[in-house]
Amino acid sequence: MNIPLTRPVIGEEEEQAVLSVLRSGWLTQGPRVAEFEKVVAEYVGARHAVAVSSCTTALHLALSALGIGAGDEVIVPSLTFIATANAVRYVGAVPVFAEVHPRTFNLDSDAVASAVTPRTKAIMPVHQIGLAADMDAINAVAARHHLIVADDAAPALGAAYHGRRVGALARATCFSFHPRKSVTTGEGGMITTDDGDLAETLRRLRTHGMSVSAEQRHAADKIIIESYVELGYNYRMTDMQAALGVAQMKRLDGIRVKRRELAARYTEHLGAIPGIVPPADPEGTHTYQSYMILLEGAKPREAVMSELLAKGIATRRGVMACHREPLYTRYARHAPRLPVTDHVADCGLVLPLYPQMTDDEQGYVIEAVREAIG
Ligand SMILES: *Cc1c(COP(=O)(O)O)cnc(C)c1O
Repeated sequence: MNIPLTRPVIGEEEEQAVLSVLRSGWLTQGPRVAEFEKVVAEYVGARHAVAVSSCTTALHLALSALGIGAGDEVIVPSLTFIATANAVRYVGAVPVFAEVHPRTFNLDSDAVASAVTPRTKAIMPVHQIGLAADMDAINAVAARHHLIVADDAAPALGAAYHGRRVGALARATCFSFHPRKSVTTGEGGMITTDDGDLAETLRRLRTHGMSVSAEQRHAADKIIIESYVELGYNYRMTDMQAALGVAQMKRLDGIRVKRRELAARYTEHLGAIPGIVPPADPEGTHTYQSYMILLEGAKPREAVMSELLAKGIATRRGVMACHREPLYTRYARHAPRLPVTDHVADCGLVLPLYPQMTDDEQGYVIEAVREAIG
């Protein structure tokens, strides 16, 4: 059998949606982008959503629009994809790595509190692999020290925390639509916020800092000359991507349910094996963008991965630790020891999970993991 790590769910709706854009003639930042933004804002329960080219550009834009810059410190987990820390550096700020909780793999609010200095400007929690971070505790630390909270929710569209969806729990929340996430636009990102002024700044910055949008000029009955007063970017989303996104959003809840069913079966079978720690899901709202186990047995992770690969099963190491990458060793001095992060980064293993996965395919993976563990 050949089992991929993941596979997007794309059907006729997506094909038709993209075709209709091609025929409409408006290919970028047009009506489909506006529609996609509306759908995502309503879904997460935020007033505004601003579509951009990726989650990485969303993070950069959000930090810029929030006024974070040179000399500021932003507290982030080290246990995250490199883009979280990189975005902090794009604006000239310093990422300060804080420890994560051993079961949720998300920022530990006590560690966040001890990482606060007079230079701290913001906290960027990550809802890692689809499990919502402890936002009440993090927001409480932020309120105590007058800090901004902007979250990296790249893998967490559809996740919830205390009855509210991720995307409505911080000043600004950034999502990804990369094919590794639950729903995809190929490449794509979105920032959600309740702050109307912030949304307007984000819209301006994503298209070169132009004072008048293309839509406004298009709709005007007189000539308008735009001006440029701030440094902007081209972080636009195309209408082909947005149309794909609108079609994908109709599938999101179905995909979430299916992913959770598959994750439950993995946990039922693998959780009983000594040396395997299944993921935690305290509120039952994990999106399982990735299903990551910890291998705490004697056999090295790479040996397990090789045996699985030999049986046609694709796996990945789990979440990385930014502070151990050469790019970030200089910043490690800002970090205390991060033993939990180190342990999770060393032991994490992501197993195949996609909504189309059959019972037979999953059974095959479960058996192969059992044999590989020994
Ligand atoms: C996927 C991911 C990103 C990057 O998203 P892109 O859309 O590929 O830029 C950033 N942070 C986290 C936590 C992610 O999982």
